[in-house]
Amino acid sequence: MAENLIILGSGPAGLTAAIYAARANLNPLVVEGIQAGGQLTITSDVENYPGFPKGILGPELMTSFRQQAERFGARFAIGDVKSVELGQAPFKLNTEKETFETKTLIISTGASANLLGLPNESRLMGKGVSTCATCDGFFFRGLEIAVVGGGDSACEEANFLTRFASKVTMIHRRDHFRASKIMADRVLKNPKIEVVWDSTLDDVLGSDEVTGIRVRNLKTGATREINLSGVFVAIGHSPNTKIFKGQLEMDAGGYLITRDGPKTNVKGVFAAGDVQDHVYRQAITAAGSGCMAALDAERYLESLHL
Ligand code: NAP
Repeated sequence: MAENLIILGSGPAGLTAAIYAARANLNPLVVEGIQAGGQLTITSDVENYPGFPKGILGPELMTSFRQQAERFGARFAIGDVKSVELGQAPFKLNTEKETFETKTLIISTGASANLLGLPNESRLMGKGVSTCATCDGFFFRGLEIAVVGGGDSACEEANFLTRFASKVTMIHRRDHFRASKIMADRVLKNPKIEVVWDSTLDDVLGSDEVTGIRVRNLKTGATREINLSGVFVAIGHSPNTKIFKGQLEMDAGGYLITRDGPKTNVKGVFAAGDVQDHVYRQAITAAGSGCMAALDAERYLESLHL
């Protein structure tokens, strides 16, 4: 029998939707996805989520979200949905092992880290190249590393990594940060961080593990090599929407288009969080949109029974 509501993804958007839907007795099923808990599980201190004046660790916050959803009866399934059939209800979600059917669907599959696209970046991933400072920072105790990017993520990662690394070199393609002033100031005041402006990563060096980087100055074209042991790529994210291509409306960047709150172009299919938001992308805005999606899913289910 088809589920009332399936929530795809278990970050702040998905788990907030689960809390609201479970409290509305919709008996929601959360299909967790490959990164259960979403991007906050690979971040460190969350200082701007209201209600935590001293900050809270990302994984701890997501565990609390999940416990709150479970308390009201939300169910969880481990599974990576490979394809969907949204042409008519009940909607079908296919994993490698099984097919889920549901009357309504909330998509909160979030976004994933972008890469520069250098062959050696992929080849040395996990061997010195990383997209997650909290996951891998510990391995670089006493070593020199680089962080690529100039946004809040790059600044946050660079600061965090100075807990372990002897020196952090930030490579940014422009002459000022995109990051918020508070994050940028922390970087500029940190004596362990050197910023290399107007520059891009030309290559990651090393055969079995990272031994250095080649950096190109975009204004002069000059290149130079820096010896170091790790490279953290923090250049933004892309939405996880591949499986919805051709079935749901997306913008040029692949973000799902929502109208009138969380509604997609298919009735009964809603989207919440980073998968449909390339502007705000905060845990609190994702949670808010998850709440909206659950309320709209509830209204939609009610309308089906009339
Ligand atoms: P972002 O704001 O999109 O910044 C991406 C950075 O990477 C930019 O500086 C960009 O350069 C650079 N970049 C992009 N593509 C590149 C390429 N191919 N080569 C070299 N550099 C490249 O992404 P983000 O830092 O992940 O932040 C995403 C959102 O999450 C933002 O809204 C941010 O405020 C939020 N966030 C908040 C916090 C916090 O408040 N604690 C922490 C993390 C993230 P340009 O500047 O030249 O475009």
